[in-house]
Amino acid sequence: MPLTLFISDLHLDSNLPELKDLFLRFMHEQAPLADAVYILGDLFEAWVGDDDDRQGTQFFIDELRGLSEQGIPLFVMSGNRDFLFADGFAKRCNCALLPDPTVINLYGTPTLLMHGDSLCTDDVKHQESRKLLRSADWKSRFLSQPLSERIKQAKEYRSMSRKHIKDAPDAIMDVNQEAVISAMQKHGVLQLIHGHTHRPAIHSLEIDGKAAKRIVLGDWNTHGSVLRCDDTGCQLTRF
Ligand code: MN
Repeated sequence: MPLTLFISDLHLDSNLPELKDLFLRFMHEQAPLADAVYILGDLFEAWVGDDDDRQGTQFFIDELRGLSEQGIPLFVMSGNRDFLFADGFAKRCNCALLPDPTVINLYGTPTLLMHGDSLCTDDVKHQESRKLLRSADWKSRFLSQPLSERIKQAKEYRSMSRKHIKDAPDAIMDVNQEAVISAMQKHGVLQLIHGHTHRPAIHSLEIDGKAAKRIVLGDWNTHGSVLRCDDTGCQLTRF
């Protein structure tokens, strides 16, 4: 049976054992049965560089590598937490890094894959910091610091970001509908899969008079969230 799995927003953190267990269950029970597994960003709560050799990080890398060694293609897109994924990470987990956005052929349906944060255009503060943090200049300056310093700064950045999320009005934290439509038009697709907003749902919309779908992946917390797709369609599931 054909099966492609999509997940995102796990926010893996070696200090959260329950999340670790959910991840292991997914990797051992569901992922090995798939034709391919796509992780659409924010796999990690924070990624401070591909040279992060802490034991807690290596544990997750070994799991990812274990899946690809079973012959399951693993595709990883970075999110706003793990935007520093680069070739070193891809090599360590033997996965393919996908640019955001990417169009794939999902059982005959051209499908746009994104993390989703670039669609939240109403959150002006996020878009500004996104632009800064993705610049080559910022990245090279950040990565030139010792690992311990980067870990410290990532923690500070996380608490600032948490404050912003708490203070920002709910509506601006979702995608902007015009941004969604223009991205889908630009790539000539009628199906979009993204994460980031933690609002799992399958939305119907219309693009140039045609029925279209926006599928939003769920975040992981006390349960896991998986989009299961085959040649008949896609289904959001929890476990
Ligand atoms: Mn995100």
